[in-house]
Amino acid sequence: MVKIYGKTTIWNKRLLNIVEGDNLYTYIGFGVIDRGTNVLQIRPTTMCVFNCIFCSVDAGPLSRNRFSEFIVEIDSLINTFNLIVRFKNCSVEALIDTIGEGLTYPHIFDLIMRLRSNPLVKSIAIETHGLIQSKTIVKKLEESGLDRINLSIDTLNKEKAKYLMGVSWFNVEKVIEIAEYVVKETNIDLHVTPLWIPGVNDEDVIKVVEWAYKIGAGKKWPPATIQKYVVHRFGRKVPGVREISWSDFWKFIRIFEEKFGLRIKWSMEEWGMFRTLKYPCPYTKGDRLFVKILSPGVFRGEYLGFDADRNILVTVIGRSVRIGFNYLVEVIEDKDCLLIVKPIKEIHI
Ligand code: SF4
Repeated sequence: MVKIYGKTTIWNKRLLNIVEGDNLYTYIGFGVIDRGTNVLQIRPTTMCVFNCIFCSVDAGPLSRNRFSEFIVEIDSLINTFNLIVRFKNCSVEALIDTIGEGLTYPHIFDLIMRLRSNPLVKSIAIETHGLIQSKTIVKKLEESGLDRINLSIDTLNKEKAKYLMGVSWFNVEKVIEIAEYVVKETNIDLHVTPLWIPGVNDEDVIKVVEWAYKIGAGKKWPPATIQKYVVHRFGRKVPGVREISWSDFWKFIRIFEEKFGLRIKWSMEEWGMFRTLKYPCPYTKGDRLFVKILSPGVFRGEYLGFDADRNILVTVIGRSVRIGFNYLVEVIEDKDCLLIVKPIKEIHI
């Protein structure tokens, strides 16, 4: 059974829900994602406190396209994670990478500790856009068993950082200080991964990568990569910026490495990644099933449907879908078992 409850409203009447249940591996917004490698993506929350001007998932208090936010109950998350790891039966990395900011999860330290208690977990990493604002938090992350922080800061300039992150309270100088503390005084590794927005932070990404190398990021894993600015359907677009092609992006990376003598492209092996069995998915494209609509999804126009036969959630795309009603639906996307369906007809039971 999957339950979605506790509907309170936050930020301009957006719904905040708690999710509880089994098999949380079929929705992109929360739960666990298995892409057929030893790295499992853990998504405990959709919440974010930033309003980055480039956010590809339109997160944060000022979002225009988000309808709901979700926080996953910790036992449910751990049960799904352990289920998949048991099936894979190999050492894994647990990567906490949300469609928000993972450090906002209220049980983040417990989550890391409980992931760590699975003997097949080799490493635990978390992605953050700069919520590491105190040594106390970093120390608690270390004590909980965190191995790596993937830090995405896109400039070292104080005022520009506020602009890019969309919040006036953001203090990149504090993040820089704490990141240096992480490298020098903890067992946690640091991987720095700025986003390059062509024409907006060209010089900044160079400085961020140089800084990452200078402070000794990459004690066990690669020190730095550069992320590509990608425009998504529901994401925010930076005014006046056109997305470049992937071939131009890789050209930029090649030139960057040659010019500055700093590597920013790494192989799967260098990341310690390898292919594994994928947890079996109950449905494929074209399959039909019955679902009950439990709640709106993260974005407007999507809903979360529950399939009682297989005890899983699916994303239902449709405008006239009604909460609490039952539908016959057809699977239109099944990549990595992130199931998206379209309604065929409403069913009256
Ligand atoms: S880019 Fe990341 S940190 Fe920024 S608003 Fe989006 S989810 Fe939050």
